[in-house]
Amino acid sequence: MQGIAGYQFNNWAQTYSSSPELFFQPANAEEVKQILDLARQRGKRVKVIGGGHSPSDIACTGDFMIRLDKMNRILEVDAEKRQVTVEAGIFLGDLNEELAQHGLALSNLGAVGEVSAAGILGTGTHNTGIEHGILPTQVVALTLMTASGEILLCSHSVNEEIFQAARLHLGCLGVILTVTFQCQAAFRLLEQQFPSTLSEVSSPRGAIVCLVCGCVCVCPAVGWHPAQDWFLPCALCWLGLAPADPRDPVWIQRLKVLYIMKKRKIKDKVRNYNKTTLVNIEKEGQTKDALLQLKSWLEGNPAVVAHYPVEVRFTQADAILLSPCYQRDSCYMNIIMYRPYGKDVQRDEYWSAYEDIMKKVGGRPHWAKAHRCSREDFQRMYPSFQKFCSIRETLDPAGMFLNPYLEKVFF
Ligand SMILES: Cc1cc2nc3c(=O)[nH]c(=O)nc-3n(C[C@H](O)[C@H](O)[C@H](O)COP(=O)(O)OP(=O)(O)OC[C@H]3O[C@@H](n4cnc5c(N)ncnc54)[C@H](O)[C@@H]3O)c2cc1C
Repeated sequence: MQGIAGYQFNNWAQTYSSSPELFFQPANAEEVKQILDLARQRGKRVKVIGGGHSPSDIACTGDFMIRLDKMNRILEVDAEKRQVTVEAGIFLGDLNEELAQHGLALSNLGAVGEVSAAGILGTGTHNTGIEHGILPTQVVALTLMTASGEILLCSHSVNEEIFQAARLHLGCLGVILTVTFQCQAAFRLLEQQFPSTLSEVSSPRGAIVCLVCGCVCVCPAVGWHPAQDWFLPCALCWLGLAPADPRDPVWIQRLKVLYIMKKRKIKDKVRNYNKTTLVNIEKEGQTKDALLQLKSWLEGNPAVVAHYPVEVRFTQADAILLSPCYQRDSCYMNIIMYRPYGKDVQRDEYWSAYEDIMKKVGGRPHWAKAHRCSREDFQRMYPSFQKFCSIRETLDPAGMFLNPYLEKVFF
């Protein structure tokens, strides 16, 4: 297995890069094993990359880098169980297209398709919907090549502890070779956008949004009914009284209702991942509290620029050792700063204030993103952090899969 010298790795956001000594693109497990053998002989570290979409330096290395873009096949589709087994380098965007041919779909996706099956397990990619876990919860089995070259099958019934570690592996347990996803029958989603205020969206409990005017209702009949593919708007819309925004004059309200009805779109799941979601924001009282604290900090610091609306998403609890949703339903809050024309903008003050607020309300950082947390922080945040560390030390005693990002996590 030949490695290429002189390869330069840049992550998607072009915020981190590294120059691995050798770069490999194996086509099968045997070739991966040869690379690990060579690394062991030469005392080199190894990093596998997927789509390179992580905004941090989690995928960087100066030693050996492996990209699994030649290991991207679908290996098996079990129509009865609605499960699909894939090679770990497949991009979810490609998998989605294939699944659609079989009338199947993943039940929840992240925001982009150029991420790999193993990459989303690397950092715990998530989206929203409190009835959905992070994407790794859809994984029912995987195979992992450890530093010794041994291949382990892991699932709920085989190597269960390693499975709960490997479903969010940080790239430090070995090379993920294959992944089996639990799918569901293909379905369609309604994309819905409407303006509202923070207090409006955070006050109702278990309410449903009218698809025409965007008002919040308590009637369960309101909404889109995917099986029948019809929708029922709220009573106000039926009567032509829908206050799309009560501050608008009546004629503007009418135009808005017509516009929203025209814009109403139902899309195939494979192409769209927005979802009208029932969220009970008060369940985590901290959610609203944290948002209000961030809002008031920004208002008190008018010189600080915040580029993007704060993204708020909800995710169900799970049993994955290093999942930010480990044993608790969670609300993710993302802040984003653009890099216009590739130029860095001042972001430290805003990001630090945000991180301080999130830490105070008990937040756990997204593993793909920039953070200032140390091993002590993770030990406090994650009840099973020590268990994960023991599994990592057993599978990779010489630290073949470590890099500077991971050293900050584990040492
Ligand atoms: C535009 C954009 C949108 C995004 N949207 C979302 C979102 O909606 N939700 C969300 O949660 N995140 C989001 N992210 C972050 C993204 O989901 C994660 O960074 C994800 O891990 C990227 O997958 P990847 O295949 O690019 O992995 P990489 O970034 O390449 O790698 C991630 C980790 O997995 C390891 N790894 C990869 N393959 C293997 C393998 N076969 N074996 C062992 N280790 C491996 C790497 O070493 C690294 O540690 C977004 C990022 C971008 C740039």
